[in-house]
Amino acid sequence: MTGEPDGCTCDPQWPSLVVPTEAGSVTVEPAATPGPIASLFWAYCADCGAIYPDAFRRAPRADRRDARASSLSPANATASQGSDISGA
Ligand SMILES: [Zn+2]
Repeated sequence: MTGEPDGCTCDPQWPSLVVPTEAGSVTVEPAATPGPIASLFWAYCADCGAIYPDAFRRAPRADRRDARASSLSPANATASQGSDISGA
């Protein structure tokens, strides 16, 4: 619209990124450094199909992150509270 041919036209930009691979579409997300998948494939906006120009990585699995958080939370909360008090 403003003369940029490759930018995402969604609002907000890049609502979700997908990488079409031989095994099917893989969901990725913006990252500070490119992951292994970024050297093999391009990522596209899932909505408008624009090529994503920056670094991206495979999106972490929600279920794995969930399990880790629930097993760490109780012990972690107690430990960090204790060290905060003694440290200050
Ligand atoms: Zn888009």
